[in-house]
Amino acid sequence: MNHDRSRELYDRALSVLAGGVNSSVRATRPYPFVIERGDGAHVIDADGNRYLDYVMGYGPLLYGHDAPDQVQSAIQRHASQGPMYGGPTEIEVDHAEFVARHVPSVEMLRFVNSGTEATVSAVRLARAYTGRDKIVIMQGGYHGAQESTLVEAGDDPYHTHPSSPGIPEEFAEHTIAVPFNDEAAIREVFEERGDEIAAVLTEPILANYGIVMPVDGYHEALRDLCDDHGSLLIFDEVITGFRVGGLQCAQGKFGVTPDLTTFGKIIGGGFPVGAIGGPAEIIEHFTPSGEVFQSGTFSGHPVTMAAGHEYLRYAAEHDVYDHVNALGDRLRSGIQDICEDQAPEYTVVGTDSMFKTVFTREAPETFEGHCEGGCRQRESCPRYETCPKTGADTAAAATERWERVFWQEMKERGIWLTANQFESQFVSYVHTDADIEETLEAYKEAL
Ligand code: PLP
Repeated sequence: MNHDRSRELYDRALSVLAGGVNSSVRATRPYPFVIERGDGAHVIDADGNRYLDYVMGYGPLLYGHDAPDQVQSAIQRHASQGPMYGGPTEIEVDHAEFVARHVPSVEMLRFVNSGTEATVSAVRLARAYTGRDKIVIMQGGYHGAQESTLVEAGDDPYHTHPSSPGIPEEFAEHTIAVPFNDEAAIREVFEERGDEIAAVLTEPILANYGIVMPVDGYHEALRDLCDDHGSLLIFDEVITGFRVGGLQCAQGKFGVTPDLTTFGKIIGGGFPVGAIGGPAEIIEHFTPSGEVFQSGTFSGHPVTMAAGHEYLRYAAEHDVYDHVNALGDRLRSGIQDICEDQAPEYTVVGTDSMFKTVFTREAPETFEGHCEGGCRQRESCPRYETCPKTGADTAAAATERWERVFWQEMKERGIWLTANQFESQFVSYVHTDADIEETLEAYKEAL
């Protein structure tokens, strides 16, 4: 593949954009290909190379680069008649009603402009509502570029440290980090400090650390601990929302209802978005009905609301989730077969339309069955021993080989995966069986 034009554009970008990009994860080595446009399940770069896209904008693009007509005409209509006003609109009410009707934990929402804004506001709301300062997060979980959660684990759950310069140590003092899926660890924290904890904030599935599914009973234990100690349970469904578990999201799939839910990505139909949802009794603490500050010039942007609303309405009226989940199953099972045949030090993880191939720490002895994705690591599974169960497992399993070798090999075969070894990949409604076959052939060669 020729990448001359990408290299030229990236050189220009390097002198005016930090690291040549607007989100650090995009700065792939030695230089990223510069994207000119999308086409169905593909992106086309500035040199005219086509790539089958499983990055999907890091999650929002449920319909790939070819949204249904009703989405596209709603976007055009709202863009041409405003495009924004700084006042309330009907479309934001329509969208809020739809989300509240389908997601178990949501009675009322506030729309914001990014997943980061959503988690910042959710943490502030939880602290104000409970009158407590501490939050518990999962080691390796990601909740956006916010000071409270950009922490690294210390010697014990209480001594976390900022993971970026510019964040005062004092901020991390309020953040407790425990390993995901370790019920004993969080139980101990609640026994010692339960009356100081405002909230437990976790993704229902760790989707930024490989893909780590919850073990049976883990979310139920979090729910009980929060109830027993007067803390709030916050599910960060920025990735899993309307991706896993269909219109009920991951909380519907797992049957555990959090107090607050944060959303982003898919609910904006490809435009910048975030939201915080929960019972009116909590959400109404936001101003003006309550006292907790929350505001945003672009919040509830009409074009975003229209795109997101039509995205979800289309999914409610068509077999979107059956289709993308079946493609996800086919892809995971095909990749797993290839791993078993050729590279047993790899395994595939994921559920619904999310997948990632990770390096396991050691080659599994035998694989007699396939992981069905979403099996939640039942002990009866033949792969139970080697399947990642905690963030630390996955971190140990993944290596730089992902980006340096495997990702590059796939890219040169026209398959675009997330370059970061921990970030999930996504199948969209416009991927086809032929795309899956092409991807599996590329896996065979690259592995
Ligand atoms: N929460 C989770 C689980 C995410 O995966 C992300 C981003 O990937 C965020 C929050 C932050 O969202 P945004 O990048 O829209 O600020």
